[in-house]
Amino acid sequence: MAHIYFDNNATTAISQNVISEMMRICDKPSNPSSIHALGRNAKQLIENARAKIGVSLNVPKGFRILFTSSATEANNLVLHSAKASDRKIFTIETEHPSVLKGPIDEFLKVKESGEINLNDINSSGFYSIMIANNETGVIQPMNDIVQQVKCVNGILHVDAVQAIGKIPFSCEEIGANAYTISGHKFGGPYGVGCLIYDSDAIKIKPLMFGGGQEYGLRPGTENVMAIHGLAVATEDIAQRVQIMQTKTKLIRDYIENEIVVACDNVRIFGKNAKHRLPNTISMTMPGVKSELQVAYFDSHGIAVSAGAACSAGRVDHPHVQMAMNSSYEDASCTLRVSLGIDNTMEEAQLFIQKWKELYERHRNG
Ligand code: PLP
Repeated sequence: MAHIYFDNNATTAISQNVISEMMRICDKPSNPSSIHALGRNAKQLIENARAKIGVSLNVPKGFRILFTSSATEANNLVLHSAKASDRKIFTIETEHPSVLKGPIDEFLKVKESGEINLNDINSSGFYSIMIANNETGVIQPMNDIVQQVKCVNGILHVDAVQAIGKIPFSCEEIGANAYTISGHKFGGPYGVGCLIYDSDAIKIKPLMFGGGQEYGLRPGTENVMAIHGLAVATEDIAQRVQIMQTKTKLIRDYIENEIVVACDNVRIFGKNAKHRLPNTISMTMPGVKSELQVAYFDSHGIAVSAGAACSAGRVDHPHVQMAMNSSYEDASCTLRVSLGIDNTMEEAQLFIQKWKELYERHRNG
C-alpha cells in the first residue's frame, strides 16, 4: 500500500539534521538552572538557541524570545496578558482554536475569500491575526494590517505558525509587536514553540507559577533538547521556502486543476484570495462527508485531514469554511491536503486517481 503523507499543516516529519543535533546533546544531564558546569552548558545551549532564532527570523533588537511548550501556549500567554491591559481584544473568525478560545472581546468577520476587512481595524485595541490560515492557506494582507493597527494606535500579535517554512518570513519586515511560532510545522521537534515579543509594548503575565525560568514568566525546567532542535530547524527555513514556492506549488496547482476538471462544482476555499500558502488545498467533494473522505484515503495509504480542525481524533465544527460564507452542507464535505517539501508529482497523481474514484462511486450511488 502507498504511504503518502499530505497532512503537513498538522505536523511535519522532524528533519534528519535536527534529530542528529538533538541526539548529540541529549545524553548529558541538562538542567539550565544548575550552577555547575553541566548546568551552565545547558543554559548556554538555550541562549545560543535564542541567538540563532533571532538571526533566522530576523527578530528586532529589544524583542524577547520566550520558549513555551507549543504555539497553543504562546497564544494563550499573550492573549491572557493582553486581557490584563485595558485594551479590547480582537481577532478574526478563522483563527486557530488556541486564539478563538482565548479571552476575545470581538470576532471580526472575514470576506468570502477568507481575508480580513481592513476597515474593521478601527480602534486602539489588541489585535491577534494569523499570517496564514492552517486549513485554507489564505494569507492575510499583513503589510496593510500592520499599517492600519499602527494608524489606530493598536497592538498587533501575529500567529506565524503556518507561514514559517512556506513563505518568506522576517519579524523585522512585518513590524508587528508579537509573533507565535511552533517547532513541529517546519521540520522541528514537537512540543516546543516560542512567543517573540516587544517587551516595551506588551507586558507578559505568567500563566503558571514556580521557578524563575524564562524571565520568570514561564516556570518549569526548560526542554533543552527541543529548544535546541527548534533553533536548528529555523536555519533550514529559507531552503524549505524555496522548495515550497517552486516544486510544491506546482504539485498543489496540478492537483487543484485536475480535480476541478473532474468535478466542476468543487469549491476550493480561499482560491480567490490575493495570496495563499503554496502547499495547501481546502476543497469540497460535493455530497461526501469529510470523515468518510479521510477514512477512504487512509485505507489507501494516503494521510489527509478533514477540512475542519481535527482535534483529539474528532472533526470539529467547520468554523473556517462557514466564516467564508459556506453552507454547513458544503463545509462538512471539505478535505484538507497540505503538502510537504518531499511530496512528488507521482503521489499527487495517485491521490487524484483515488479522489476521482471516490467521487464517481458516490455520484453513481
Ligand atoms: N496556530 C496555528 C495557525 C496552527 O495551525 C496551530 C497548529 O495546528 C497552532 C497555532 C497550535 O500549534 P501547537 O501544536 O504548537 O500548539
